[in-house]
Amino acid sequence: MSQDDCLFCRIIDGDIPAEIIYESENAIAFGDINPQAPTHVLIIPRRHLATINDLGDGDEAVVGSLFSAARDIAASEGLSEQGYRTVINCNEAAGQTVFHIHLHLLGGRGFGWPPG
Ligand code: AMP
Ligand code: ZN
Repeated sequence: MSQDDCLFCRIIDGDIPAEIIYESENAIAFGDINPQAPTHVLIIPRRHLATINDLGDGDEAVVGSLFSAARDIAASEGLSEQGYRTVINCNEAAGQTVFHIHLHLLGGRGFGWPPG
């Protein structure tokens, strides 16, 4: 399942250090190394899935676990009421650079719309 050449699989396996702030059956979360907001957390499935395009019809629980994590982390960071942004980039046009699905959770400042 885990891929040796995948940065985020290596974080899951403990081969590369990260500030892990949340763990559940299907997901883990850690601080982004280059934060774009006061809170910038990456929430990833434990199972290697490169992009949203690779989700199977049976992966609803995996996707749901990412958003359950976002809800809980936002609450623990005190962001639930003021609001926060969740983003999953898919492939080149969206700017995906790490090919293991990750939900960005950004908060602690305002965000424009539409995104650039
Ligand atoms: P994306 O452009 O959507 O693929 O986002 C990849 C994110 O991973 C970027 O926000 C990077 O700053 C972040 N990132 C890259 N390497 C690491 C790392 N070793 N630990 C934590 N975050 C990382
Ligand atoms: Zn991976």
